[in-house]
Amino acid sequence: MRMVDLIEKKRDGGELTKEEINFIIQGYTKDEIPEYQISALAMAIFFQDMTPQERASLTMAMVESGDQIDLSAIEGIKVDKHSTGGVGDKTTIALAPLVAAVGVPVAKMSGRGLGHTGGTIDKLEAIPGFHVEIDTLEFSELVNKNKLAVIGQTTNLTPADKKLYGLRDVTATVNSIPLIASSIMSKKIASGADAIVLDVKTGSGAFMKELEKSQELAEAMVEIGNNLGRQTMAIISDMNQPLGFAVGNALEVKEAIEMLKGNGPDDLLELCLTLGSYMVYLAKQATSIEEARVKLQEVIANGAAIDKLKTFIEAQGGDATVVDNLEKLPYAAFDIPVKVTESGYISEIVANKIGLAAMKLGAGRATKASTIDLSVGIILHKKIGDQVKAGDAIATLYSNSQDVDEVVELVQRSYTIVQEQVKPPTLIYNTIS
Ligand code: URA
Repeated sequence: MRMVDLIEKKRDGGELTKEEINFIIQGYTKDEIPEYQISALAMAIFFQDMTPQERASLTMAMVESGDQIDLSAIEGIKVDKHSTGGVGDKTTIALAPLVAAVGVPVAKMSGRGLGHTGGTIDKLEAIPGFHVEIDTLEFSELVNKNKLAVIGQTTNLTPADKKLYGLRDVTATVNSIPLIASSIMSKKIASGADAIVLDVKTGSGAFMKELEKSQELAEAMVEIGNNLGRQTMAIISDMNQPLGFAVGNALEVKEAIEMLKGNGPDDLLELCLTLGSYMVYLAKQATSIEEARVKLQEVIANGAAIDKLKTFIEAQGGDATVVDNLEKLPYAAFDIPVKVTESGYISEIVANKIGLAAMKLGAGRATKASTIDLSVGIILHKKIGDQVKAGDAIATLYSNSQDVDEVVELVQRSYTIVQEQVKPPTLIYNTIS
């Protein structure tokens, strides 16, 4: 097989076979195929697309390029959740104990974050003593015992995807549905899940800004998952404004804890109930989505979900008393209100600008080497559709410095105020199963 022939085939709209895709991905992983040929192929895929069979083969070839996590020691159907990412997305922290409380085994492999705030692991480490440095045996034992454990990503998962993603970043080929879908799904499948629930974000603060493209991506991922024998469902959810009110590590943990205690916020709760219902259903802990939702509401109301969170924290070395004593979480030295100068209705909150503001306070990493301050962040007081009067605080900055005029301005500029009433955006646009 010659790589140049395969590039030509794809360039002219042909369909690559499974063997040809394996040849490409294996050769690339071993540095036997040069980056200039892979770049040319990525551009050909960008313009010619891939068939469902090609997408499944590419995903599987990337899965097989590295380690695959074996979760067979864990009893039950393991359902994983993936979000394409957004500002204030603390869903995993609330959702994992919520579905575990209903009996779904949650074996979660998570990472640290680059960008607005830390990743799930960084956020959980805001809980004093909590750690994810457990070995795979302990990980399986904890999931079997408590239905929930979180481990850091230490293994060599999908190295082909890592290389290809880096190359796509510098060859203008990131924005290709078959390449994004296979990239995300390869990581999920290599992580060992039996079933997968995807939260594809759409809007100004999302990776995919247009609803139509988000829908296309969600459909592509669901098709790949199902073609590869993993029951997969997706929802399209709104990221035209941050999720919930909190943006920042300890602040988001607090908000997730409050949600598990039954104290909202409404959008976070609704998202968790929707995603959670699919997880419970796919794990066969309910016979319908409706029954699954009722079970989730019950474990919030009867305290089983918050108890599950405490057990999980304790099992991984954390101080579970933080759950009832939120002041034990890291707390910033200063709280600084952000006020508006005109009255009206909030029509827009540019989520990415709020995320950038949180990062400027120290909540996120600009580079892999940056350190993050778990205590800082932003609490929004107003969301799209809310009425405001001149002088109202629309947000509060939690900071360890008082020199934050630039951040105050950035948050003010994130908000648009108009005179006519505005309807809050839809939270969940669509479901793909
Ligand atoms: N996230 C991924 O993991 N891969 C992509 O290609 C795009 C976003």
